[in-house]
Amino acid sequence: MTAVQGTQTQRREAEVLDFDAIIIGAGMSGMYQLYRLREMGLRVRVLEAGTGVGGTWYWNRYPGARFDSESYSYGYSFSQDVLDEWDWGECFSGQPEIERYCNFVADKFDLRRDIQFSARVTAAHYDEAGRYWTVKLADGAHYRARFLITAIGLLSAPTMPRFAGIDDFQGQWCHTGLWPKEGIDFAGKRVAVIGTGASGVQAIQEIAKSARQLIVFQRRPNWCTPLHNRPIPKDEMERIRAGYPELFQLCRETAACFIHTVDPRGTFEVTDEERLAFWEELYAGQGFGIWQGNFRDMLTDREANRLMSEFVAGKIRERVKDPKVAELLIPKDHGFGTRRVPQETHYYEVYNQPHVKLVSMLEQPVDRITPTGIRTSAQDYDVDVIIYATGFDAVTGAFDRIDIRGDGGQRLKDKWTGGPRTFVGVMVDGFPNMFMIMGPHAALGNNPRSIEYNVEWIRDLLGRMNAHDLIETEARPEAVGEWHAFVHEKAEGLLVNEIDSWMTGINMNVDGKQTRTVVRYSGTAPEYRAKCDDVAAGGYRELRFASANSVA
Ligand code: NAP
Repeated sequence: MTAVQGTQTQRREAEVLDFDAIIIGAGMSGMYQLYRLREMGLRVRVLEAGTGVGGTWYWNRYPGARFDSESYSYGYSFSQDVLDEWDWGECFSGQPEIERYCNFVADKFDLRRDIQFSARVTAAHYDEAGRYWTVKLADGAHYRARFLITAIGLLSAPTMPRFAGIDDFQGQWCHTGLWPKEGIDFAGKRVAVIGTGASGVQAIQEIAKSARQLIVFQRRPNWCTPLHNRPIPKDEMERIRAGYPELFQLCRETAACFIHTVDPRGTFEVTDEERLAFWEELYAGQGFGIWQGNFRDMLTDREANRLMSEFVAGKIRERVKDPKVAELLIPKDHGFGTRRVPQETHYYEVYNQPHVKLVSMLEQPVDRITPTGIRTSAQDYDVDVIIYATGFDAVTGAFDRIDIRGDGGQRLKDKWTGGPRTFVGVMVDGFPNMFMIMGPHAALGNNPRSIEYNVEWIRDLLGRMNAHDLIETEARPEAVGEWHAFVHEKAEGLLVNEIDSWMTGINMNVDGKQTRTVVRYSGTAPEYRAKCDDVAAGGYRELRFASANSVA
């Protein structure tokens, strides 16, 4: 093809594009990206599988679902109007309030007019000649857009256990991540909950309040610590509002964007009494302080971690009356904080109640699901409802469920066999004009803080392309290689990366996810942002660009 023919092709194709950008997902990421791209004058369509906004907070409507970040540190920071007008009701708000918040933001900026609901994306293919993405929906519709932005979350592909007979169950069943809008009434019912991660723990402590009988099926226990939630009185909310600039500045400076951050002292640099007093203070404190604000070596030094684990084990033994049950609830295969710490409210006390039973699947594995309940190697448990709190195909799972194909028809899923490779978690070589918010190897933590950063970085990049008449960009393979090496370097020496969990790419219910992989960026968020800022300041040398006039 000659240069002139190439240009003509570009022009013809540009005329048939439905949108400048398609965003997949209307959660916190997709909503904010829509706001920013619309502000630039782009024609944008958000495709959302659900019937409402909120993403995680739309799907995970199980009883007890709530923030583990302080509410006021989690909300959007970009709009003074939103900060002025929205009052958080609790330090750690529950799902109904969070969903209301997402709807409030959607209403405020009239976002819904560019969001297509009940639109599940099944495929996205890049057309190299035309330099656009064709995005297909489950209902057969398809759209073309220059840019594709994934805002699909890192924990949004629920996974079920591979138990025999799962479809035989005659009672009601549900996964925590696909909770029905009409809710489930547990009153007077015999209920089984399978799984004791953050979702299971939140659900168990709530379901126990109304179920006639609750049987918790636990495989590996987690270290859970008190959330210490409470309502926020009006006058306190006014003080929080007045302090928002300092609060968000603090979140910009902390390692994982929480209001808590690592204590600069080492575990053995203080006396035994000081150490214990500090841990007591953290245990009595709110939220993730005990995980994110602990001694600096707690997650790197084995002895420090062992001591901290002993401290929390002691708390569990104090709180659970039956010593055998307490021992079952104390993790023996990993130290405190090396898996995601579920935050709890009277979780351990649930097991002191006569209508609650803990079954260890390590002692009696599940044989199968029967029409009336769950059969383990030891006995049959008849129940009316089974709740699967069995987690997600994390980080890459939501990408794998969409048939994403880049240059030459290569599939993203194939490219990521053996682990994801990205440039700053936002771009992938061979997949031009595709951008990921909260993609693999981007900074995580208190997610909206990282979301806002990612969204604005993408906005700035598209703004630059617009200004220079560029219609295509792609990460250079060598830049991806360098980022990959950096992410792996940052993962070294962390105890968390020696333990099986979604944070190390493990999900026993998903083929190919049985080997630990570096799926997360483990450096600090400020370091991540500094790297990304440098890319922009340096004129995006890590990216390749093409203008409408260059030959495809
Ligand atoms: P998860 O942490 O992956 O926990 C899944 C649970 O199900 C584990 O206890 C696991 O046992 C068990 N399980 C899975 N498959 C099983 C099988 N085949 N047989 C027996 N047990 C099985 O999932 P999650 O609780 O949904 O939480 C995932 C993440 O979502 C959290 O870590 C957190 O980042 C996020 N989350 C956030 C919030 C919040 O911010 N408020 C709330 C909930 C979740 P094993 O441990 O033995 O594999």
